[in-house]
Amino acid sequence: MTTVAGALHEARAAGVERLDAQLLLAHVLARPRAWLYAHDDAALDAAQALTWRGLLARRAAGEPVAYLVGSKEFHGLTLQVDARVLVPRPETELLVDWALDRLTDAATSRPRVVDLGTGSGAIALAVKAAWPQADVLATDVSEDALAVARANADALGLPLATCRGAWWDALDGERFDLVLSNPPYIAGGDPHLPALRHEPTLALTPGADGLNALRAIVAGAAAHLRASGWLLLEHGYDQADAVQALLREHGFDAIETRRDLAGQPRCTGGRALAATERTG
Ligand code: SAM
Ligand code: GLN
Repeated sequence: MTTVAGALHEARAAGVERLDAQLLLAHVLARPRAWLYAHDDAALDAAQALTWRGLLARRAAGEPVAYLVGSKEFHGLTLQVDARVLVPRPETELLVDWALDRLTDAATSRPRVVDLGTGSGAIALAVKAAWPQADVLATDVSEDALAVARANADALGLPLATCRGAWWDALDGERFDLVLSNPPYIAGGDPHLPALRHEPTLALTPGADGLNALRAIVAGAAAHLRASGWLLLEHGYDQADAVQALLREHGFDAIETRRDLAGQPRCTGGRALAATERTG
């Protein structure tokens, strides 16, 4: 017979981290994680033990916990996730917090916001949840990702417009007050990529030096921002200087980089020049 204590012992032996094991076991038993602490001796029935061993083996082989339990918390929302989308990361909540600061300062009462490369819809839905009067659009080149984003929007009861296409190609002639993106930014040859093999490659790396998606987004941003609109981007820990240079080159001002909770420079943004200053 497998008990809660025995199951957690198996996880330790399989090299699965304690928190991950607790999340998986709580999922199998359909109990909150805290329940496990007071129920060391509770038994798993045969079906639960089978499910548990299957999930443990998949976790030990590197599959993200979020795929195994089917959901991930992001900025106070529970998002459904599976292998069609990147698992939303805690550092991306920083981009959302920055976006909400910008919306607080915005002159317009019904700001237009776009999230480029929305994946699960994490950024777009967190903004919409916190700022319901914003008109939020989410894009992705992956139809699979947009299906997940739309399912999350429906499940959360948050109105979200979606549009499929590569970066700005999807948005000819459209302008926004706020442009947000966490694009793929890992370099093609990065030694960390193999550890992320369960997530879509398209979500992780644009190949080469990792900057091509950021370059494409910055290059097209001025033509898609309203006067004094903001562009806020997530990037790799060593890409802040490159992104700042791109923003300067394309005429942005008030350029700033913010650090994540681990102290890494993680998001960089700037303001588009006022329309009257924009020439040629
Ligand atoms: N925004 C989500 C988040 O923060 O969790 C997902 C970010 S993931 C790092 C990057 C997303 O960009 C993926 O969903 C991927 O499908 C999308 N993407 C990749 N190339 C793209 C392109 N050329 N145009 C639009 N989206 C693209
Ligand atoms: N932050 C993710 C990681 O390093 C990468 C996501 C991305 O490329 N935008 O695991």
